[in-house]
Parts: sequence; structure tokens; C-alpha cells
Amino acid sequence: MAKGNDSLSLFDSHCHLNFSDFDNDRLQVLGQAKKAEVSHICIPATQQVEWLALINEPELLSQVSPVSIVTALGLHPWFICEHNLEHLNVLDKLLQQRPAGVVAIGETGLDFFDRDITLQTKAKQLALFTGQVELAYLHQMPLIIHGRKSHDDILKVLRRFKPERAGIIHGFSGSEQQANEYLNLGFKLGFGGGITYPRARKTRHLAATLPIHSIVLETDAPDMPLNGYQGQRNEPARVKLVAECLAELRGVSLMEVAEATSHNCRTLFRI
Ligand SMILES: [Zn+2]
Repeated sequence: MAKGNDSLSLFDSHCHLNFSDFDNDRLQVLGQAKKAEVSHICIPATQQVEWLALINEPELLSQVSPVSIVTALGLHPWFICEHNLEHLNVLDKLLQQRPAGVVAIGETGLDFFDRDITLQTKAKQLALFTGQVELAYLHQMPLIIHGRKSHDDILKVLRRFKPERAGIIHGFSGSEQQANEYLNLGFKLGFGGGITYPRARKTRHLAATLPIHSIVLETDAPDMPLNGYQGQRNEPARVKLVAECLAELRGVSLMEVAEATSHNCRTLFRI
């Protein structure tokens, strides 16, 4: 429900604000996000070297930022060469300490988009992803999952471990059947700049018709530019444009989309 005034409270569930792309103007970017009525941002790590900085770096913490920031710790399949299985033990130990502000495991997942991917790389991705799903189960944390040409393989692992708090399938662009299978496992689907492109008919249809309790918003900044912003660095403030697009697709108000999707994130991350 609206709280008396008309200000929104948007949640960017996926923003790589710790990337060097933002080193020169991170606080300004956060100021712009605040102006665009973004109240929360979740920063998912992509490799081990980011973990301690995300836990410790005061610049990124909410005392300095006008936007509340939470984080996730994980190993992204794009950086497969940087990872080794020992990192799973490091993550396990870090999570045992319950670091403040860490609300999920991610960004993890499987990416089989590259047709020339070797069996060895696939196996390594699968081992690291499975290990992180196992940790999510053990530590009772939600997952933030990246999937490209791999949703059926991801679903297989999730069905095996059934991580209780499920999580988010970020930047979802799979089929309706895959969407429903994720929903049956309790997962939410993250929609971002992709839905602003008219050619993304299948994904826009899903964003328009899936139950709102299963949807969260994201930018994936600095990546995934919105329609009209191609070639530019993406920014968390633009989650408002994603929300406006979703509201239009669903034929509901911006406030309704903002409230429902932020509520979904806060419930999932328990904040
Ligand atoms: Zn990402």
C-alpha cells in the first residue's frame, strides 16, 4: 500500500556498482539513483577478489550512500578462469561469519552461449555452480543466478538440491515453460533493460503475464543498456525506466509495480 505520499521505493536487484566503470563517479551515480526514487540496490560479486571489498569497503555501505546497499557473494561463469574449487571453501567460511549486508549467494550460474565452449570448461562451470547451490542450501540463503543457453541444466541442479530460499533468475529471457519451472521451485525472475526492446516479444509477454509476486526489477548496470541508451554505461537510476516499461506492459500503475517488486526483493532478501 502507498504510505501517504507518492514517492516510489524502487529496488535494483542486480547492479555491479563495484565495477571500475563507476570508480570516478560512484557517489554521483548513487545520487542519481536516489533522485530516481531507488531506495535499495543489490550488488552481486562476480569473483573472489571482490568479496572482501564488498564486505568492507565503507564507500559502498549505506552510511555514505543515499541508497541502501546489500550484497551477494558468488562466482560468475564468465570469470571461470579466475575461479578454482578452493574458492567454494573460502565462501563457505565467509558465510559462516554471517557478514553484515550479505543477503544472497551470487552471481553464480551457467553460461553455455559460446558454441566453442570445451567440455572441460562446462564441467568446471557445473562444479562451481553446483557447489554454490549446495552452499545456498547449507547456509539457508537465496541464490542470484545467471543463465544463458543453460536453463535446463540449471533447473536440473536446482531440482536436485532444492535450496529452500530459492532466489532470482536474473535477466530472464528463457521460455514460458522454463519460467514456470523456476516459479514452481519458488524462484523469482529478474527483468531489466531487455524488456524495453519491442523485438523482445517473448520476454515482454512473460513480463506482462507472469504473476507479479514472481517478478523483480534489475539493471545489471553497467551492462544491459535500455532501448534508446545503447552504447552508454547503464546506471541504477534507470531501474525506474524498467519499472515504467513493466507497468505499461501490464497495464498497471508505476506505483503498483514499484511496491510489488520491491516487496518481493525485501521478502526474498529478508530486509
Ligand atoms: Zn550481473
